[in-house]
Amino acid sequence: MPVIPIDRIQVTPELDAWLRETRRYLHMNPELSLQETNTARFVAGHLRELGIEHRTGVGGDGRSLFMSREALAAAGVEPGPTTGGTGVVALIHGRRPGKTVLLRADMDALPIEEQNDVPYRSTRPGVMHACGHDVHTTILLGVAEVLNGLRDEFDGTVKLMFQPAEEGPGGAAAMIHDGVLDDPPVDAAIALHVGVDCDPGQIAVSPGPATAAADTVKIEVTGRGGHAAAPHNAVDSVVVAAHILIALQTIVSREVNPLESAVVTFGALHSGSANNVIPQTAVLEGTVRTYSAAVRDHIERRIAEIASGVASAMRAEATTTYLRGYPPMYNDPTVTEIVRSAAAEVLGAENVLDRTPLMAGEDMAFIAERVPTCMFGLGVRNTERGIIYPPHHPRFDADEDALAVGVKTMVAAALRFLGS
Ligand SMILES: [Zn+2]
Ligand SMILES: [Zn+2]
Repeated sequence: MPVIPIDRIQVTPELDAWLRETRRYLHMNPELSLQETNTARFVAGHLRELGIEHRTGVGGDGRSLFMSREALAAAGVEPGPTTGGTGVVALIHGRRPGKTVLLRADMDALPIEEQNDVPYRSTRPGVMHACGHDVHTTILLGVAEVLNGLRDEFDGTVKLMFQPAEEGPGGAAAMIHDGVLDDPPVDAAIALHVGVDCDPGQIAVSPGPATAAADTVKIEVTGRGGHAAAPHNAVDSVVVAAHILIALQTIVSREVNPLESAVVTFGALHSGSANNVIPQTAVLEGTVRTYSAAVRDHIERRIAEIASGVASAMRAEATTTYLRGYPPMYNDPTVTEIVRSAAAEVLGAENVLDRTPLMAGEDMAFIAERVPTCMFGLGVRNTERGIIYPPHHPRFDADEDALAVGVKTMVAAALRFLGS
């Protein structure tokens, strides 16, 4: 089929204004994972206005999720009150049947109190779009409008996936469970994630490893409580936990091949309530990030062995609970090359940067396990305006000039894939 010239892929000033306004509306009204009801209603409402066929209530009331209730609790996620899922799936059919490409946005926010002093600051205490999913959702709605306007000029189908619960417990898995990759079957998937490693007008993407497996671990140390002045009559769970914590640092430094990647971080250590009481128990909670299955298996086994070995050497006991989270994600070389060359057409080759793998987890990995996928980083940094904080930071923000860039790049990548 004839290739749609790149100058046909336009974001009009009207659409650009709408994108900025929409991003601010979503930013001011963030919703936690599995509670994205207002966002989903907004998305469906706009698709309806555009006359785009779509399905609501897809993916994720907590029953079709890949993580158990126990895993949800460990990840600090309370499933919301929804009963039918909050995901939305839309279809844009080209003039003739052909390939199907899935484009994805995530819709959920984080339990973070926003520290930005901006007119579009979150209006919900303790909830913030600190991972830029407001930007992702806005861009995919812009993509919907542009591609819908071009539907008489391409063959194949574009499937738009607006998913819940990327931040946990894996809304993408729930969407797959509810058939997002079927009917029509998906040939490739493309997603973007905002990042402050580059500026609006730039993207960063590389084939191969993109995001890591993200697991959670909890170690409960049980000693024997007692009076602080009589340590010999007690088994101090705090001291035992401290030794375990230090010993676990040797897994990455001494047991993992230096050419492999791994992170073992304990972000929480809780015990005791008074300066003069030896507490009975101490609890360590951490996260493990890996790429290879062998390293993942090794770390899972060794955390439990080291924790119980150190504990028993010190007359205590340790119980380890290890929960596997998102798998690692790999960018498919063929789809990534299509994205890179489409982006080069839109932005100029000098603005398509390489990206090193991240140790962050990303539930797009569930899609990438099943269909060739590329996820690229969209630059939203603006050093002059202080937009330099990474995702999950209470001062995270995004330069809205990136909205149109995201729309054009994703539209071009989708069209180039369908035409490939
Ligand atoms: Zn995030
Ligand atoms: Zn994110």
